[in-house]
Amino acid sequence: MGGTFDPIHRGHLRILDAVAGKFDRILVIPSGHPWLRTSEPVASGGARLEMCSRALDDLSEELQEKVALTDIEIRRSGPTYTVDTINQLRAFFPKDSFTLILGSDAASQIDKWHKSKELKSLVNFLVVRRPGESKSTYPEIEIDALDISATEVRDYLRSGKDVTPFISDSVLTYIKEAGLYGSK
Ligand code: ATP
Ligand code: MG
Repeated sequence: MGGTFDPIHRGHLRILDAVAGKFDRILVIPSGHPWLRTSEPVASGGARLEMCSRALDDLSEELQEKVALTDIEIRRSGPTYTVDTINQLRAFFPKDSFTLILGSDAASQIDKWHKSKELKSLVNFLVVRRPGESKSTYPEIEIDALDISATEVRDYLRSGKDVTPFISDSVLTYIKEAGLYGSK
């Protein structure tokens, strides 16, 4: 499961919880330089990795055994292409099959991704429909997805609104300590 995770929020954690039963292992992969976005992530790769690490610590022990955080994309320079990540992972796990877990907004962009044809030949897709979005053309899993985005969390932080319903306490503590997102 990739993403900018700028910051990681409960909507992301809900996905992990809901799909865990389908997989032997889930890798959470914060992206380095998501090239399809109009601007770079607000928080640094290191900060986004740290927030993910803190948020994942709050998962149940059972889930923690399955979920691993990797800096494979953060460490890579240049634009982040998922196909590169998958090829790197395949070298480590040659016998495994891979599924990309993604929200419906991300899924609708796949054809624009770098080497999307090659990527499609290497992975399966599992799509979580975000509230208000239409059905994906890829296999979907019905979960009770939360109506929240990192953009909204950043906006709320900037305007001093309470974000405790949306992000883990440990992530909020980090954001405040590091003075991220213009938090007050
Ligand atoms: P931003 O507003 O900055 O784009 P985001 O909330 O969309 O942030 P991303 O890091 O872009 O978070 O998302 C990572 C992945 O998680 C994407 O595949 C995205 O579609 C999915 N996702 C994010 N939030 C939700 C949510 N509330 N429900 C379901 N899927 C989500
Ligand atoms: Mg997004």
